[in-house]
Amino acid sequence: MSSNRKILMLPGDGIGPEVMKETKRVIDWFDKRLEVGFDIEEGLVGGASFDKFKTPITDEVMEKALNSDGVLFGAVGGPDYDNLPFSEKPERGLLKLRKELGLFANLRPAIVFDALADASSLKKEIVSGLDIMILRELTGGIYFGEPRGIEDLSDGTRVGINTEVYSTKEIRRAGEVAFELASKRRGLVHSVEKSNVMESGLLWREEIQKLHDENYNSITLEHMFADNCAMQLVRDPHQFDVIVTTNLFGDILSDISAQLTGSLGMLPSASLGEVNEYGIRKSLFEPVHGSAPDISGQGKANPIAMILSFSMMLRYSLDRNDDADLVEKAVTKALEDGLRTADIMQPGKTLISTEKMGVEICNRLDQLSV
Ligand code: NAD
Repeated sequence: MSSNRKILMLPGDGIGPEVMKETKRVIDWFDKRLEVGFDIEEGLVGGASFDKFKTPITDEVMEKALNSDGVLFGAVGGPDYDNLPFSEKPERGLLKLRKELGLFANLRPAIVFDALADASSLKKEIVSGLDIMILRELTGGIYFGEPRGIEDLSDGTRVGINTEVYSTKEIRRAGEVAFELASKRRGLVHSVEKSNVMESGLLWREEIQKLHDENYNSITLEHMFADNCAMQLVRDPHQFDVIVTTNLFGDILSDISAQLTGSLGMLPSASLGEVNEYGIRKSLFEPVHGSAPDISGQGKANPIAMILSFSMMLRYSLDRNDDADLVEKAVTKALEDGLRTADIMQPGKTLISTEKMGVEICNRLDQLSV
């Protein structure tokens, strides 16, 4: 039996296949050099799966995802599918993957490459050198809590209801991932909630503090209210290392932190599940951006978010930190050398295509590994 690590690639729709192709180029580069390489399988998801199988994800692809060491996901969706019923929409493929793989922790790094510090809407000195990680709890909280719905009242008006629910288990497993991450970074965790006005927030604060005191004393833990955190992220983002927060607040705060870095085409993400009896964590890695129908098929897409998602896979799923560092260095070098896709183009730099960016990043891998 092969000892290779099994990767399932799901390119999806729009620019998904274009950026995945360049990521595959990087994976092939590693495959030729590593003792333990990769067994790669591909599958259809989203609109591409609907076109062929009339479902956004087949049972066969789901089975492959469950048996893989990590899923690399491109992007799904597009105008052709906008009028499909909810259950057949491309996004259902992603939601089903998240649910069945039990992915409860969404990790979004906000890293500002020095070569792109000018691209942020904030002043260069505020974002330069930034490297923070937001951990958003992904499967609990107000997006899933019961009761929920819209009810008609006897006076003819209506009421909309959503409920924020968090259990000790949900809070602790998110906290554990955050403390583990911080132990490999700068050793600082900010736990973010609204314990001043929400009981679920108070429980969140108490459980995170308890977990810290029991198992993670070497990590510095700070508590912060979500509204203050939003303000601090744009005022002085360097004060943060790892932020751990609820589904709702994480949704908002991770978009704020994404904006600190300037471009959607540069942002990777990871979603992690629980560790199984073999010590393996289910995981899915994807760029933050969507299928970008406005530029698809034109060679304009920036593949870096997808390539950095693979580097997150190397770091958080395959335990290959050195290789992840190498990918990040190759990306940094390509940017320092002035290479730019259209979304990050700046005066005096060299405009290149999606494919050329993939090739040039592999050239830098060659240079850095001699
Ligand atoms: P989008 O992220 O696809 O695009 C927003 C803007 O950013 C567009 O102008 C696009 O050209 C640009 N952009 C995005 N990625 C880029 C890249 N790698 N390089 C260069 N430019 C890039 O968001 P949208 O336009 O709101 O949505 C388009 C479709 O994608 C919709 O069907 C939406 O439902 C879907 N979507 C899917 C996901 C996912 O698969 N996880 C996430 C978000 C949106």
